[in-house]
Amino acid sequence: MAEVKKQPLTNFIKFLGTAGARFVMIQQLRASGGIWISCNGTNVLVDPGPGSLVRCINSRPKLNPARLDGIILTHRHLDHAADVNVMIEAMTEGGFKKRGVVFCPQDALAHDPVIFKYNRAFPERIEILKPGQRYRVGNLRFVTSMQHVHPVVTFGMRFKINDTSVSLLTDTKYFERLKDFYKTDIVIMAVVFLEPRQGIDHLSLQEARNLIKELPAKKIILTHFGMTMLSAKPHLLAQNLSAQLGVEVVAAYDGMTLFP
Ligand SMILES: [Zn+2]
Ligand SMILES: [Zn+2]
Repeated sequence: MAEVKKQPLTNFIKFLGTAGARFVMIQQLRASGGIWISCNGTNVLVDPGPGSLVRCINSRPKLNPARLDGIILTHRHLDHAADVNVMIEAMTEGGFKKRGVVFCPQDALAHDPVIFKYNRAFPERIEILKPGQRYRVGNLRFVTSMQHVHPVVTFGMRFKINDTSVSLLTDTKYFERLKDFYKTDIVIMAVVFLEPRQGIDHLSLQEARNLIKELPAKKIILTHFGMTMLSAKPHLLAQNLSAQLGVEVVAAYDGMTLFP
């Protein structure tokens, strides 16, 4: 009998969207499908915003939601959670196959929930995200950040793919202690604005620059762009930052795939 060679598992992180905040999302100037992580055979979708299901199906190669092992919501905002219900249905094959884990902050389930009640019995379990806790789904282990400064309960996360540490710094107002958590080889950073804006809890490029200086990262990936970032051409901004800071800074684009 011919020897069947085992295909090595490909680990990757794919951006199914790079839109940040309202206007880029509602006009779909950038897609808003979240981030798909494939880690040693475990598939997890983070922040399925509007269009996530369509982006999975239309990906080349196609990403099959029925192969998801988990869905993580960093917070309940629409640009991170609009497709969560349909993705739960897709992960569980219409609710007929009890499988997968959903991770979310408590307020995604509380009053005015973003995860419908009827859907909650479909996954194997739902785990509530709390600050600084360890979680596991299949071969992916991750730890949550401290609570971010954002209008709803929000956590970033840190995980490892083999020897490479990766973190996902989602929506937040800038604060000093961010630098203590996001010490990874690769940092994926939600940078919504070009300039800081009073009273809106998002990172600006200016703040991101100061934060990057404090981090030991080998590679920074900017994403979650608002209008002012898009108008200023994120790839040029990233190039400038790389030159200024001496660390590789890349602007994510829809469909971009990273092989850590
Ligand atoms: Zn957002
Ligand atoms: Zn948000």
